[in-house]
Amino acid sequence: MKTLLVTGGAGFIGGNFVLRQMRQGGVEVVNLDALTYSGNLRTLAEVEDNPNHDFVLGSIGDRELVEYLLERYQPDAIVNFAAETHVDRSIDGPDAFVHTNVTGTFELLEAARWYWRQLDGERRKTFRFLHVSTDEVYGTLGPTGKFTEETPYRPNSPYSASKAGSDHLVRAYFHTYGLPVLTTNCSNNYGPYQFPEKLIPLMIDHALQGLPLPVYGAGTNVRDWLYVEDHCRAIETVLAGGRPGEVYNVGGNNEKTNIEVVETICALLDEFLPDSPHKPHRHLIQFVQDRPGHDLRYAIDAGKIGRELAWQPEETFETGLRKTVRWYLDNRDWVEHVKSGNYGGERLGVESAK
Ligand code: NAD
Repeated sequence: MKTLLVTGGAGFIGGNFVLRQMRQGGVEVVNLDALTYSGNLRTLAEVEDNPNHDFVLGSIGDRELVEYLLERYQPDAIVNFAAETHVDRSIDGPDAFVHTNVTGTFELLEAARWYWRQLDGERRKTFRFLHVSTDEVYGTLGPTGKFTEETPYRPNSPYSASKAGSDHLVRAYFHTYGLPVLTTNCSNNYGPYQFPEKLIPLMIDHALQGLPLPVYGAGTNVRDWLYVEDHCRAIETVLAGGRPGEVYNVGGNNEKTNIEVVETICALLDEFLPDSPHKPHRHLIQFVQDRPGHDLRYAIDAGKIGRELAWQPEETFETGLRKTVRWYLDNRDWVEHVKSGNYGGERLGVESAK
């Protein structure tokens, strides 16, 4: 049985990843999460009693704790999801972003380096440190072109700058110390268990309450969307077959303007809730002042992971969004529970984590 140290596994993508590992079986997961406002144990309810899942409350920035966990559990890999992730929050308060995403990743890398050096021959060769990152590090695109792994880093928000900093540290630990790292840079994710400050769950939640659906600017910013399960499968694929030191871009080939996304959600809600007093839901859309430094367009060229590791997304945007809207309708108790915590940043806008 393989053992993984997963960080940030009570959040959106990490939570989906952990649930997937437990459903597949054959893996032991040590789940280290600081349970910030976006981490929630409700997401992990299904695996609460699973003997192969151990939840540890703590920070990736606590090197002593991480070293203790590494020594105790002897993992075969570390998968780092832990981060501050919301662009709007990074504009209002960048400190936490630098603290967790840059310094936290540094502490985690130091602990990993200490542990890896003690491993013996075969385990030392097969150990991996997989760092989960974003396409936002590449900055913004004009109307054409796509981000490749060779695109220079040009982050524009404190969030993306802090993720870029973490990516650079991860890269340096390979080139300087030989630590077998892998980095994935992924486009916008959507799916179950996403905190309802991000575009898709925010819109669903507001629409159900008949509240305005705030769309930044003219709604013409373009994002490339990937269903979270496809992202989790990509991470598994890179972990199993990726070449140490390499970067893999992950994307869904689903470019959509924000207004298209919101209108599609409204149409799905009209279909699923024929008796809703808020029909047609698109009448709730309101355009609001744009976010400062708002990147115009992101698009990912995921050719490398396709060619080298035969990964392809399985969901289209239409099938994935249908599943997602259905999930939020069927899991109102989860939404209400996570909202009852520290939810309510002042700038609860329309943009996703990205
Ligand atoms: P999220 O905000 O839902 O979850 C983050 C998790 O990290 C939470 O459970 C939180 O409690 C935990 N955390 C925060 N600080 C921590 C610390 N110091 N120590 C341990 N745990 C800590 O985020 P997400 O959307 O699931 O994103 C996960 C990762 O994927 C992030 O690194 C993000 O940059 C990256 N990413 C996200 C997207 C997206 O669209 N959501 C796309 C590409 C990449």
